[in-house]
Amino acid sequence: MELLKERIRRDGTVKGTDVLKVDSFLNHQMDVALFEAMGREFLRRFADCGVNKILTIEASGIGIACVTAQSFHCPVVFAKKSQTKNIAGEVYSTRVESFTHGRVYDVIVSKKFLGSEDNVLIIDDFLANGAALEGLIDLVNQAGARLAGAGVAIEKAFQPGGDRLRAKGIRVEALARVKSMSEENGVEFVD
Ligand code: 5GP
Repeated sequence: MELLKERIRRDGTVKGTDVLKVDSFLNHQMDVALFEAMGREFLRRFADCGVNKILTIEASGIGIACVTAQSFHCPVVFAKKSQTKNIAGEVYSTRVESFTHGRVYDVIVSKKFLGSEDNVLIIDDFLANGAALEGLIDLVNQAGARLAGAGVAIEKAFQPGGDRLRAKGIRVEALARVKSMSEENGVEFVD
């Protein structure tokens, strides 16, 4: 998606070898007009999939997921990072290793909000090693729901997550795919 790629070129900054900072428009200050265009693009790509629910993970996926849900006219559920154990069995629960914080979180979704009647589109801001999407897919599977696919704003294609998920037959759509990046030369895209 050219609009997003242009914005990354203009306002994104590379930290070290593998962190792209986009917090002036994507995951701290949020450019909602850009999100709207992204939501329409996700709808174009997943138009005939019968999506009736969007699933994301807190915190930085929520904004994009909400605006995307306006295009799909469906609700959004976000997986919550949880401190408490699932004693009563009323939640689905999985573990996710955070790329940016380097620690493992338990994340949960209430069984009230995800079930076998759902056809789920997963939305997130970044795809790196794939841990966040794999955790969300695990929750979809626990719920017996159908997975239409996953849409991410930015895939760092030099990291293994996207290839691994596609090899499992999961449809992954990225609006901007980063081929390589460095502090000196900035960001280069796959196509
Ligand atoms: P993964 O689980 O695929 O390794 O990483 C995805 C999660 O890590 C995303 O939800 C995103 O919040 C965070 N993340 C991964 N790479 C980056 C990055 O380069 N920049 C930022 N801002 N967040 C990232």
